[in-house]
Amino acid sequence: MAWSNAPSRTGTAYWRRVKRWARDNLEYRCNAISCEESANLELDHITPHYLGGTENPGNLQWLCPTHHKQKTAGEAYRARGGRYRRKEQPSIGSVAKGRGITPARREQPPTT
Ligand SMILES: [Zn+2]
Repeated sequence: MAWSNAPSRTGTAYWRRVKRWARDNLEYRCNAISCEESANLELDHITPHYLGGTENPGNLQWLCPTHHKQKTAGEAYRARGGRYRRKEQPSIGSVAKGRGITPARREQPPTT
């Protein structure tokens, strides 16, 4: 349901609000290990929408364009074990097995 009427959320006012939230609540630095980039970052869904990812705080991270592309491409990201900085992030593998993400009830990004 949700995905059928929101095929492209990254261009919407909603996404701009999510990004503003992330700017205020997440460390503004590329979340890839050993990357200290802190300019022109792109907000990424750690678990992509097509795997059930949402805009929950635990599923959002900043990535520099290079690492964002790398993660989107998939290969390099997984080849390195998907090792990103924050420990509480579920791995793509665990989500793909259907465990999903426990939504945080506080500090939610906007939901509409
Ligand atoms: Zn980076």
